[in-house]
Amino acid sequence: MTALAAPDTQAHRVRTAIETLRTRFGDRVCTTHSVREEHSHGEALDISRLPEAVIYAESTEDVSETLRVCHQHRVPVVAFGAGTSLEGHVTPPEHAISLDLSRMTKIIAVNTDDLDCRVQAGLTRQSLNANIRDQGLFFPVDPGGEATLGGMCATRASGTAAVRYGTMKENVLGLTVVLATGEIIRTGGRVRKSSTGYDLTALFVGSEGTLGVITEIQLRLYGLPETVSAAICQFTNLDDAVATTMQLVQIGLPISRVELLDEVQMGASIRYSRLENLKPLPTLFFEFAGAPDAVSEQVRTTETIALDNNASGFTWADTAEERSRLWKARHDAFWAAKSLAPGALVISTDCIVPISKLGVLIAGVRRDIDASGLQAALLGHVGDGNFHALLIAENSDDGRRRILELDRLIVGRAQSLGGSCSGEHGVGVGKQEFLETEHGDGALSLMRALKHTLDPDGILNPGKLLPAGRVYGREASLNS
Ligand SMILES: Cc1cc2nc3c(=O)[nH]c(=O)nc-3n(C[C@H](O)[C@H](O)[C@H](O)COP(=O)(O)OP(=O)(O)OC[C@H]3O[C@@H](n4cnc5c(N)ncnc54)[C@H](O)[C@@H]3O)c2cc1C
Repeated sequence: MTALAAPDTQAHRVRTAIETLRTRFGDRVCTTHSVREEHSHGEALDISRLPEAVIYAESTEDVSETLRVCHQHRVPVVAFGAGTSLEGHVTPPEHAISLDLSRMTKIIAVNTDDLDCRVQAGLTRQSLNANIRDQGLFFPVDPGGEATLGGMCATRASGTAAVRYGTMKENVLGLTVVLATGEIIRTGGRVRKSSTGYDLTALFVGSEGTLGVITEIQLRLYGLPETVSAAICQFTNLDDAVATTMQLVQIGLPISRVELLDEVQMGASIRYSRLENLKPLPTLFFEFAGAPDAVSEQVRTTETIALDNNASGFTWADTAEERSRLWKARHDAFWAAKSLAPGALVISTDCIVPISKLGVLIAGVRRDIDASGLQAALLGHVGDGNFHALLIAENSDDGRRRILELDRLIVGRAQSLGGSCSGEHGVGVGKQEFLETEHGDGALSLMRALKHTLDPDGILNPGKLLPAGRVYGREASLNS
């Protein structure tokens, strides 16, 4: 009797891959519902699908072995850091494996004299900072979520300090990356600049797990500043707060952070973070750092410009505790806005424009929001021209339709002002529909060609970043 050939379906292939991986990794291959559910979605978009299994990697070799097996069986793999991404990045396609790197938390080397370090990709920025503080060092990129450094590389993240220190793009010197076949490569190195060959580090930073899985990262570090001072000032109208920011940036003031929260967001943050002595008014949060004289000079200039723009005075946070309370409130702004309407649908739109266009953009967005009748809070890393609109709608089909319409209007406005549909959150599935307008056919075709070269079977986070089919983006995801 001849044996029947095994069926070559996707469901069968993924089962075979999981059995093979179990022989290597044992209980680090997890198929329980609760673990699969944790890996079925990120934050904010209500899009979710269970992976067939979650593999917990502990080393570059584990990642390599996982990809080798998945490549052999043509099984999709979604790298997973902390799952804080906001555009549906980590939601797996059907019959996929989630590759969790959060156990890869080693600090491999800290080079105090060269101001750099090498870490595993699952380390969070908070853990890195807690470990290097006593050596007088810090890493400045600070997205609000408790993100991993690998996830931050993959989304080319930034945060409140990018106006002074740049984003992940400027702060990653080199990487170890596992390619779709399981091959391990190193990119970049420890030097601050190099003019040898194509910049592969830059290619992988921002590739959202679609070109390779990052396992180690060489990062720039900075000396802790001698003096740090933080302040809040409030305005009666949003235009004055925006004008203050634009003028500070345009005179080249080396401010460390300048963040805008509008009156809706401030009202929410005052309640959520129990901020005292502040009103629900448009507000700027500032931080100044450096030598004491330089900080005093920055503070004086900022006060003058803010008061000229009708600021209603400064509240100072002088101690480290006060400052961390202030910045925690800023980092919790998303949760504060969500608490305005528990159970509602919330989208965090993320646009960026050249700084000179910020005032026009924000005024237009306010008009769009008022006309839509939806609730929305505005906030942002305005020193970079980057701002977020947290759009809130009833969790119903009509609410979805209205929130998506408003989201498109806002993004369209930013793009028509020479801006981008995402300054920091990335594309995932939510921003795919805007890429053609932003990059044009030629650049998108080149991106597809790169993807095909590095991942010809399309196993690395398929369906993300590059628009593929006719129905894509938030609408498709929210309705699926
Ligand atoms: C409250 C809140 C505030 C936020 N504020 C900011 C902000 O200010 N600035 C900002 O930039 N973002 C912000 N974000 C978004 C989010 O924190 C960032 O996108 C972050 O970089 C995601 O990291 P993660 O470890 O959670 O990655 P995940 O969500 O796990 O993954 C994100 C993407 O990266 C891929 N990936 C993860 N790890 C790897 C790896 N090792 N190799 C290759 N690919 C990988 C995944 O496949 C996925 O495509 C915020 C999110 C929340 C919830």
